[in-house]
Amino acid sequence: MSDRQLSGQTLSYLSSKFREVGIRPKTKYGQNFLIDLNLLRLLFSSAQVGPDDVVLEIGGGTGSLTTMLAGKAAHVISVEIDDQLYQLAQESLANHNNVTLVRQDALKNKNRVSPSILEQVRSHLEGHPERKFKLVSNLPYNVATPIISNLLTQEPLPHLMVVTIQRELGERMIAKPSTKDYSALSIWMQCQTEVEIVRILPPSAFWPQPKVESAIVRITLDPEKRAAIPDLANFHEFVRSMFFHRRKFLRNELLSLYKKKMSKDDVDDILTTLEHPATVRAEELTIEQMLDLYQVAEAKADQLANSQG
Ligand code: SAM
Repeated sequence: MSDRQLSGQTLSYLSSKFREVGIRPKTKYGQNFLIDLNLLRLLFSSAQVGPDDVVLEIGGGTGSLTTMLAGKAAHVISVEIDDQLYQLAQESLANHNNVTLVRQDALKNKNRVSPSILEQVRSHLEGHPERKFKLVSNLPYNVATPIISNLLTQEPLPHLMVVTIQRELGERMIAKPSTKDYSALSIWMQCQTEVEIVRILPPSAFWPQPKVESAIVRITLDPEKRAAIPDLANFHEFVRSMFFHRRKFLRNELLSLYKKKMSKDDVDDILTTLEHPATVRAEELTIEQMLDLYQVAEAKADQLANSQG
């Protein structure tokens, strides 16, 4: 796309349009518009959108990225919470018949992607087995984590997510064991996807400038990795409990998670079986070790419950 076609996303256009309509970017909605056109193109090209793709965009803003996506995708569902921006997007997308603009909060109850939005995605996938679902968005910072991590719990699953998020969040997603960024989120993402930081973006790429750096992140679903974990939702909860007090020994976290089900000796048995010292912390375990721990602990809890009941 030429700079002229993207003129709706320049600082001069956006600021004069906002003045004309009498609005200002709203911090509470994370309204930081990506005004560096090269980086906007990089976000777009990293998603390799094609005619078999059904694309979800969360936080469509005035509709510039939406227009780029609509030029290539089978269908685009663009969700925007802000009524005034939604109206501006409606004007700029009037000529596109493969775009559904939705004015609503993308999240239901603060941490689940709204089922009505996923229903829209599903309706454009149904009857087209060749189609793939992709999330491509310059995400509002405050809802990026729930959107990305919850899309991995709900059907339909995104084949690919290419998003701009806070750099720090991207670094937590790719972090390795025994580093300061390694967390339950690192395990959740890496146990079922490939995560890659495509580019770090300076605050000056946005209007208004955020206080922190951002990153374009590409997340590709790995169905094989996902299938290797039998009950992903429970595993997720288990990992979150193990990281609940990051600096505490894993032994204490296991004791508090299974307090009604296991004794200290049972927990010590589990750690000995897996050859972990009593002083091991969650942040030291690889994903495979965490999965082994989960399976051994759950089997022990079941065995104890059966022998008692
Ligand atoms: N797409 C534009 C761009 O690329 O510059 C705007 C991106 S801006 C970082 C995030 C957008 O998400 C804003 O337009 C904001 O109003 C919208 N937004 C914030 N919270 C939202 C939510 N919970 N649901 C839907 N849209 C939201």
